[in-house]
Amino acid sequence: MDNTTDGAIAQPETSAWSPLAAVDRRVHELLLRQERQERTTLKLIASENFASSAVLEATGSIFTNKYAEGYPGARYYAGNEIVDELENLAIERLKTLFGSEHANVQPYSGSPANQAVYRALLSPGDKVMGLPLPEGGHLTHGWAINFSGTDYKRVPYGLHEKTQQIDYDRLRETAKREQPRLIWVGGTAYPRIFDYALMAEIALETNSYLVADIAHISGLIVAGAHPNPVCHCDVVTSTSHKSIRGPRGGFILSRNEDRYQALYHPKSKYNLARRIDRAVFPQLQGGPHMNVVAALAVALQEAATPAFRSYGHQIVKNAKALAQALLERGYDLVTGGTDNHMLILDLRDRPLSGKAYAERLANAGIITNFNMVPGDPRDPAVASGIRLGSPAVTSMGMREGEMLQIADFIDLVCRQPNDPDVHTSVRRDVADFCAAFGVPGITDI
Ligand SMILES: *Cc1c(COP(=O)(O)O)cnc(C)c1O
Repeated sequence: MDNTTDGAIAQPETSAWSPLAAVDRRVHELLLRQERQERTTLKLIASENFASSAVLEATGSIFTNKYAEGYPGARYYAGNEIVDELENLAIERLKTLFGSEHANVQPYSGSPANQAVYRALLSPGDKVMGLPLPEGGHLTHGWAINFSGTDYKRVPYGLHEKTQQIDYDRLRETAKREQPRLIWVGGTAYPRIFDYALMAEIALETNSYLVADIAHISGLIVAGAHPNPVCHCDVVTSTSHKSIRGPRGGFILSRNEDRYQALYHPKSKYNLARRIDRAVFPQLQGGPHMNVVAALAVALQEAATPAFRSYGHQIVKNAKALAQALLERGYDLVTGGTDNHMLILDLRDRPLSGKAYAERLANAGIITNFNMVPGDPRDPAVASGIRLGSPAVTSMGMREGEMLQIADFIDLVCRQPNDPDVHTSVRRDVADFCAAFGVPGITDI
């Protein structure tokens, strides 16, 4: 079996003529090496996935050439009749899939989508409640060094000490005391289902906007494997490249009307939907990436199929199977398990840091990321946890049985973190293991 190190130059997989290879050998070589890495290692990064060949084709299409500042029917450049149809198609598909009144598909990614929400709903200095980064929230939910923490007043909420899940009672108390203008619900390292209905009650009691950030779980929601927050929230933001398996990008769903228009925006002549659109363009962005909008439309078409429904449910089954297998092998998990696609290994009582284990695992072909755990005593730059996710391996067709094998690979490396021979041998076994599966976008073209 192939045991090429990352330094070696991979050979082309096919003899097809490649314009990229003809123009730029170096980038082409890097691409082949990246493809080889993705084929021969286990992608367990919870935020990553494999976009399909159809999504990749649209991403790499001539729609990249078109400037389309503005919105369908109201552009600043001529020649937009076709991309108007394209953007409307993506918008309609999103609205249907999520049951939302309004959709904006232009944000360049998840963080710019969140930035647009701040612009549309708040003024600088307004209070924002979010889950802090070390407890599973995202940078853009009010973390100190992010714009959301410097330009707005941060009011963090947190986890219950025992359950390590959101402490909704304390959240309610804090919200009543602080009267935030906006409350975020969502996270980047939170393995449980959010109580959207309860959060909506709290937001109503405190006249706050409720915004869900479903960047990680949008695919699970579409598949019916996680509750849909759209009916409970004023606004919902997402990336398009995580569990929903689209191109790198972002989108925003919202109601049309602002229920606090009279209270917070009495002078604005624009409703909520228009304010979101205006925040994205022209306040924050210029021309939308129409190739990405095209690829998003394709991904949404794929996400509307019964196959995607089973895919989403299988993601959760796989994460639960991996969690169970790791618990049985003596590992601690944040919250004791998972309801979604991710789990967080708590390595606080182990000799090495999360970063050190993640490096050892990567040497063995198991690609993860280190992550803070609640109450982490280590420096954030090394942390005490590792985040694992099942979306990408599920896209390869793996099921519960394979999760047991993956738990064994992880366990082998973590039990002998300082034995490079073990890592080399696991790396070989991982490559053999992966070779039995297809990789969307890589082995199917
Ligand atoms: C990934 C993520 C984002 C940001 O997405 P980018 O595309 O990396 O900017 C925002 N919020 C959450 C919860 C995320 O997980």
